[in-house]
Amino acid sequence: PQPQRSGGVTLTKSPEEELDVLTKCLVDKMENPETDFFGICGNCGQKVIVDEEGCSAMDKVFHVKCFTCTTCGGRLSGKPFYAMENHPYCEECYINSLEKCSVCSKPIMERILRATGKPYHPACFTCVVCGKSLDGIPFTVDATNQIHCIEDFHKKFAPRCSVCHEPIMPEPGQEETIRIVAMDRSFHVGCYKCEDCGMVLSSEADGRGCYPLDDHILCRDCNAKRIQALSARISTEL
Ligand SMILES: [Zn+2]
Ligand SMILES: [Zn+2]
Ligand SMILES: [Zn+2]
Ligand SMILES: [Zn+2]
Ligand SMILES: [Zn+2]
Ligand SMILES: [Zn+2]
Repeated sequence: PQPQRSGGVTLTKSPEEELDVLTKCLVDKMENPETDFFGICGNCGQKVIVDEEGCSAMDKVFHVKCFTCTTCGGRLSGKPFYAMENHPYCEECYINSLEKCSVCSKPIMERILRATGKPYHPACFTCVVCGKSLDGIPFTVDATNQIHCIEDFHKKFAPRCSVCHEPIMPEPGQEETIRIVAMDRSFHVGCYKCEDCGMVLSSEADGRGCYPLDDHILCRDCNAKRIQALSARISTEL
């Protein structure tokens, strides 16, 4: 069997028929102008008719004279406009209404990064020390609200070790800083060691306690030796 053709049928209008349609349209309009009614103006509530100047925006129709900026009243038809909460604004008024970045003071057109209650361009939200973008990254502010990455904040404000004088920072990947505070001084865990024998000190319980002598950090044995030496000297001096 032959394959069946499934063809579409094109309807053609003769020129006379088309003319008829046009004529009918004109007649309608003369008899009843409201058939070309375009819609109700979203501003004044009056009918917008095709012959009048109308425009459509924000899913509504408006008289051209009625479609104006909510702030300055300038006509918006044929111009870029911005709809906010269903009210149209001209470009200038829209931009003026935008929040300004706390760093560069320019309006924020796209995503607002809000930190410590202030708006920023994501690209402007950077560490004051290293300049790294802190968009989506943990950050801290100092007393004057300056933004710091965690690392630079610690470097700047962390307590310094009284032995090596380097800042005492959290270990990589750690949130908290572990430091030893003794005799009103701070120490890195690894810097807290006996000045004489170098043994790393920790707690008294495991025999690694600190036995300071005249502001020197000493283990128990070295403390005892120094005291012995001192008393020996005192006795020989006597
Ligand atoms: Zn109107
Ligand atoms: Zn305006
Ligand atoms: Zn900015
Ligand atoms: Zn930084
Ligand atoms: Zn240290
Ligand atoms: Zn020692």
